[in-house]
Amino acid sequence: MATISDLSHIRNIGIAAHVDAGKTTLTERMLYYTGASYKIGEVHDGEAHMDYMAEEQAHGITITSAVTKASWKEHLIQLVDTPGHVDFTIEVERSMRILDGCTIVLDGVRGVEPQTEMVWRQRNKFGLPALFFINKMDRPGADFKLAMNTMRKRLAAEPVAVTVPLVDQHAVIHLIDKTLISFSGEQGELVQVSRCDEDTLASVTPYREGLLLAAAEMDEGLADIVLSGEEPEADIVWNALRKATLTGKAHPCFGGSALRNYGVQPLLDGIVRLLPAPLDRPPSIAYRPDGEQELVAMTAEGPFVALAFKVQMWDRRRHVFVRIYRNTLKPGDRIVIPARDGNFIQEHVARIFDVDANKKTRLDRANAGQIVLLAGLRQATTGDTLCSPGNPLTLERIETREPVLSLAIEPLSSEDEEKLLDVLDKLQQEDPTLRLEEDKETGQRLLRGMGELHLQIAFERLQREFNLGVRAGRPAVALCETISRSATSEFLFEQAIEHDQKLVRMKARVQVSVKPLERKAGIRVISNPALIPESAALSTPQAEAVEAGAKDCVKSGPFQGVPLQDLEVRVNEVELFGSASSPQALRAASALATRKAIDRARGLLLHPIMTTEVVVPEENLGSVLGDLQARQAIIFGTNILGNTATITCEAALDKLLGYTTDLRSMTQGRGQFSMIFDRFDVAGA
Ligand code: GDP
Repeated sequence: MATISDLSHIRNIGIAAHVDAGKTTLTERMLYYTGASYKIGEVHDGEAHMDYMAEEQAHGITITSAVTKASWKEHLIQLVDTPGHVDFTIEVERSMRILDGCTIVLDGVRGVEPQTEMVWRQRNKFGLPALFFINKMDRPGADFKLAMNTMRKRLAAEPVAVTVPLVDQHAVIHLIDKTLISFSGEQGELVQVSRCDEDTLASVTPYREGLLLAAAEMDEGLADIVLSGEEPEADIVWNALRKATLTGKAHPCFGGSALRNYGVQPLLDGIVRLLPAPLDRPPSIAYRPDGEQELVAMTAEGPFVALAFKVQMWDRRRHVFVRIYRNTLKPGDRIVIPARDGNFIQEHVARIFDVDANKKTRLDRANAGQIVLLAGLRQATTGDTLCSPGNPLTLERIETREPVLSLAIEPLSSEDEEKLLDVLDKLQQEDPTLRLEEDKETGQRLLRGMGELHLQIAFERLQREFNLGVRAGRPAVALCETISRSATSEFLFEQAIEHDQKLVRMKARVQVSVKPLERKAGIRVISNPALIPESAALSTPQAEAVEAGAKDCVKSGPFQGVPLQDLEVRVNEVELFGSASSPQALRAASALATRKAIDRARGLLLHPIMTTEVVVPEENLGSVLGDLQARQAIIFGTNILGNTATITCEAALDKLLGYTTDLRSMTQGRGQFSMIFDRFDVAGA
């Protein structure tokens, strides 16, 4: 396939949706019509083009962000696949960061769903221009207008219809071109465009008026034409609507059915005509080592800058996906990565690849605006900025979230044991939301992740992709501890140890107070020497040791040895005993005083609390609510739209383990839920 070097002809886009809205089916159709894949793989056959990982096929969902290319009307559309399950939200966010636009798929019956809202919030974060495809219009109960209304209500978006589906005719009305577009042939590949007759056009007048008004807001000339009742030219409307889309003032909507093969080609036209080219995007903010801001525009000039957004093992080797912002990269180039600690990591780019789903092709250069895969980088990881050695910069870092669920992993043989650590390290590099820890008491290896499916898939990859013999325990929930009242304690640490045949005395006294803080406050350690009597005598290493002692102590609480949260430790007094008050002595005294104070402050166990949305058929509402109450969920509200009820609530993660299966059986498979970690708190608080 030809690559288009002119950036104005590139569209880097992502397709996002609530699970099951039809993202994969739509992507397949887009690839088919653009000639990128010649056989349509249905999702239920497990052979869809983008879902090339075995686990994705088994679970019928899309997990890994892969880049797939499609040519459409002199343009190159690069689809960066975004995952559809809430456990993989971080991957959605990572992909969004490097996209120029997105298409959000809605189910024509359900309209906006919980995960659409989540995706929308992420889209807002990066100001990403968005189009909507209102899919499944063939389903009984599908309602184009209602779906658009849910966008207004739940997303505060400004939907503007561009095509309106005519379900019975396998066709759509194009509101800008005033045409009727019908789709025929085995896969809807035969597109027939005819002028739309006046009666049919009259039936969609309110949509067309809405479209013209939204476009007119961006173009005074167009506003004059519309107000005077004349018919504007299609090109003027397209251009004005494009401006409205790029500034986020309008969200063009296309209707159709991916499965029944209608409405997809006009969406491709819309992507090309309404979504931005790399150069149309506003510059990104980056920071120099001295903290000064610099705006990085997508351009061929200036020092090299790229952002790593995904690490992937490919043919068992480490590869890094990057988006190039400035200048050009060639194999053999040296780059630097500013590290968090102020140092620089030097890296060498061995090879550059163009990626199209599971195929990679070697390139001899890559330019600004391109998304490419690099081999040879040993340390670069998701979120890192790659720069030219003379000009270090950091683009905003991508947030990561706390993994709140863990799975004990047990190798079956000593050979597997050896391989396990290496393989887990590789998995973790690909996905920083996976974490490997060791349970100090049992010595078990714990894999921590974002949710049950996330861990299950990681576990299956260990077995299938890396051929490891491993067993997994039941998923366990990460807990924290805190305190429920204030307390003060002091500790006089006194010890004599033999060192080099000499007796070394260690002695120090520290007094601390602890007090509970509000939820989500984290840990605050106040040991400002200026506030401590006698502090004038504290040397810097001594002051640091006092603080370190308190910090050591909050790493694990007295109940279960899990980290402490939401409390303040304040060092009130430090008593020094000459040379016996070494930093080691002070660190021990401070840790032991803190431990004593925490023991007195009446500990509490904190559970991960998940903000949860459950979507069920209205007839199941009563039983589902009853079940949620039995799980001690706090219900915030219930919203009924059509015959679908959306329950918003929060619940402790431990009460939601296995909920997917239970919800399915309560609702004959029709109920769905999504959850996201909010905070550690007392369960049921
Ligand atoms: P994803 O989870 O968003 O990727 O959704 P899929 O593409 O996997 O689709 C979910 C289910 O909806 C599959 O069974 C599809 O066959 C079905 N589906 C997708 N598009 C349509 C459509 O336009 N109409 C109908 N009736 N079903 C569809």
